Amino acid sequence: MQFTANSLEQHWMPFTSNREFKNSPRIIVKGEGVYLTDHKGGTVIDGSSGLFCCPLGHGRKEIAEAVYKQLLENDYASPFMTSTPGSFELAQKVARITPDPINHVFFVNSGSESIDTALKMAMAYHRARGEGQRTRFVSRERAYHGVNIGGLSLSGMVKNRETFTSVMPNVVCMRHTYNPDELFVRGQPESGVEMADDLARFCETYGGSTIAAVFVEPIAGSTGILVPPKGYLERLREICDEHGILLVFDEVITGFGRTGSAFASQEFGVTPDIMTLAKALTNGAQPMGAVAVRDEVYETITEASPENAIEFFHGYTYSGHPAACAAGIAVQDIYANENIFEKAAALSDYFLDGLFDLRDIEAVKDIRGYGLVGGVELHAKGAPGARGTQAQKDLFWNGMHVKFTGDTACVAPPFISTKENIDEMMDKLRATLEIA
Ligand code: PLP
Repeated sequence: MQFTANSLEQHWMPFTSNREFKNSPRIIVKGEGVYLTDHKGGTVIDGSSGLFCCPLGHGRKEIAEAVYKQLLENDYASPFMTSTPGSFELAQKVARITPDPINHVFFVNSGSESIDTALKMAMAYHRARGEGQRTRFVSRERAYHGVNIGGLSLSGMVKNRETFTSVMPNVVCMRHTYNPDELFVRGQPESGVEMADDLARFCETYGGSTIAAVFVEPIAGSTGILVPPKGYLERLREICDEHGILLVFDEVITGFGRTGSAFASQEFGVTPDIMTLAKALTNGAQPMGAVAVRDEVYETITEASPENAIEFFHGYTYSGHPAACAAGIAVQDIYANENIFEKAAALSDYFLDGLFDLRDIEAVKDIRGYGLVGGVELHAKGAPGARGTQAQKDLFWNGMHVKFTGDTACVAPPFISTKENIDEMMDKLRATLEIA
């Protein structure tokens, strides 16, 4: 295929400046290990694990073979009132590594669907307990919870929502935790725990008994990597417990090892009631998400229904798709057998050392990071985001893929990266950002 503007016209690309892209395409034709190949034959190191979803890098044979075998064996069966073996096997594998007592797993096809599903679970849970008056949801400024109407209603990012105004009512946002007076903090900031008290204020203003759930990303990812201040998540947990509010951790990015532990909830020692998952669940090899819940949430909803009735009127045609489950099982086996999360934890210091060494670059305004994820924020030049967008493109042609949000580079190497790979990423970042 010729990659000319005309040949690219029909595909309306997501989250992309379509007109610019089609005049100057950046098309990935191959992925192997931590490297991608572009359509001109250039080699590009994957500095964001795709979109935070490929900790094992690209082209793992075991995953491809598991999917191929599954498609020949049984490519599809209805997940409503029948099922396939892989969905039970994968649910067990996921439940084995989620914190106790989070032991029940509902499958969906994306992070956005996991958020909509979690919203509905929270509604169903409170209704089952006779607390259907809990109709309000709490989110946070700068939050990203995907793009479906549920996730959009929780969104705290203006560009994602200002065009789409007909969203769920009854959502209020706590303040974000970015503190301009505390820059270049490695790990958790010392100050900012009081931001969690916004939730207590909402309880005073609206009545805690009207709030169904609070959604937070333990590390706010898509907005540019904001690590939670010390004590912040713990304080949210306390306030939720005081008022009977469900705490939902959106672990779509932090899940499956990104922080060094299996989940951020274990890393930070705070157990939510519901966790939303996607991305690294299948190493990005098949579209899949999941919602993992405490036993009590599952039992309350299922036991509130009459015997033999459908307890939760929700599900997708492709919930627990056999090919996605096959990929998920293969991936979870690799994580366990090759101690992949431990490898991520062991590489973290080296990665963060390299990232924070970029602080002398004139364009760099702030650096934040935890585990194997970090944000390098640039001083805006011209319109907000313009410098970041240009830097992302320049970086690509310099041989490195990084996801940018506005003027912040979101760096998230595959866990299989070697120290040499990390060095290469830092060299490419420096070379590009020094002239950005
Ligand atoms: N939640 C978080 C925290 C995310 O980072 C994302 C995607 O980046 C989503 C939800 C949405 O996931 P998806 O793009 O798979 O719908």
